[in-house]
Amino acid sequence: MKRGTFLLLLSILLTISVDAQNLILEGGWLILPDSESAVKNPGLHINSGKIFTIGNINEDNTIPHINLEDDDYVLPGLFDLHAHLKVSHKGMVKEDTLATPLLYLANGITTIFTCGEVDPEAVFIYKQNVSKGFSTGPRILNSGPYFGDQAPGWNADYSTDDIYRIVDEWAAKGVAGFKARDISAAHLEALIDRAHMHDLTVTGHLSGSKFPSVSAGIAIPMGIDRLEHYTGGVALPGVKNGYAEVGEMDLANPLIDKSMDMLIDHKVYFNSTLAVIGGFTESKDKWLDYWVDEKKYWAPYAQALVETNPAKYHPTRIQFYENSKVLLKRFYDRGGLISMGTDGPLTLDFLWDFKTPGFNTHREMALMSEVGIPNHEVIKIASLNSARAMGLEDKLGSIEVGKMGDLMIVKGNPLEDIYNTHNVHTVIKQGKVYNTQELLQSCEGMLGPQSEASWLGKQ
Ligand SMILES: [Zn+2]
Repeated sequence: MKRGTFLLLLSILLTISVDAQNLILEGGWLILPDSESAVKNPGLHINSGKIFTIGNINEDNTIPHINLEDDDYVLPGLFDLHAHLKVSHKGMVKEDTLATPLLYLANGITTIFTCGEVDPEAVFIYKQNVSKGFSTGPRILNSGPYFGDQAPGWNADYSTDDIYRIVDEWAAKGVAGFKARDISAAHLEALIDRAHMHDLTVTGHLSGSKFPSVSAGIAIPMGIDRLEHYTGGVALPGVKNGYAEVGEMDLANPLIDKSMDMLIDHKVYFNSTLAVIGGFTESKDKWLDYWVDEKKYWAPYAQALVETNPAKYHPTRIQFYENSKVLLKRFYDRGGLISMGTDGPLTLDFLWDFKTPGFNTHREMALMSEVGIPNHEVIKIASLNSARAMGLEDKLGSIEVGKMGDLMIVKGNPLEDIYNTHNVHTVIKQGKVYNTQELLQSCEGMLGPQSEASWLGKQ
């Protein structure tokens, strides 16, 4: 079939099946969790939003079909554990529920954990709207407020009971886990204890800007579940920001392996967020490139800010970034648990060459592949490992019967070339089908402030 004919047929099929949550995918290839090569699709039936059968499909012609081509590869929907909806400009930070979620979904990311929220009520309402079908977006696993100095109005004198009360309040509102950043040891211990009582996980951006900092070496024995940005621990002196300390680290220091083993022994997952950090630097690494004009999704005012300000780069992040690539591969080789986390909300107050949420998840996968992690493991990190890190592997993270029908379809085999994930054209969330181009078109000019006055609430 000619590509044009195929696309026309696909778009007709998508129109009829978009709300069906019941469909059959035929043709193409499947990327299954424990196979190093793709398998020919024997027919995949999604019923009531879940994967009902793989092979032996019911040839019921009333069920909408999507007929894939031989160069179509079906992956599990991606799962980003360090997502943000926030946008910052002129010292104000707001949660963006208009464009950012669509950019994630269009890129094949069907589940996000909003890793620390400045306006948890806004994210909570948006999450409810998505789950009821009133808004389009990825599945939102919300975190509630930051715990620590990043939270607006955080009180350094909170008692243990205060922390318990905040945890209980957000657990009752259905958060999926919590995020600590710039937190005291006493507050972190209270957070972890209480979160675990609710069967919820805690992640941390540790070794931040409070000194001496609470490092992974302190947080891991307390039971922290995940770490963001650096494995840290006993290898970091805790007297400077962790980014600086990793940048200045002697990679031959035996304490690095000791720290990594601490994560491994306690089954702590790690989100490296390196593609975004690479974007802060002058690195010419090819995974940092643009493959589409991402800025067209930014509001014209936000684009103009970038155009009128020359690209600035962070003066010291380059050493952090270069060392971290080496450490990521070392952690993988030692058997460390890695999940997918990108970070990188739109921040217009500094570092003008900022890349766009959603696309960054593909950059992070390409980075992992380029540092030497096998492609089938990279895909697993970005899907099943993230689901496992949240205790959701029974429902999400892989193409298996009984799990949610969360899929992304790309042109070209990403096991042979990870950059083929850039070619995502169709995303399926709980059996509902989305066309990547349509989602992207719907957020052109939508991301970030439309004007200074509207952003600051002056009009
Ligand atoms: Zn973050």
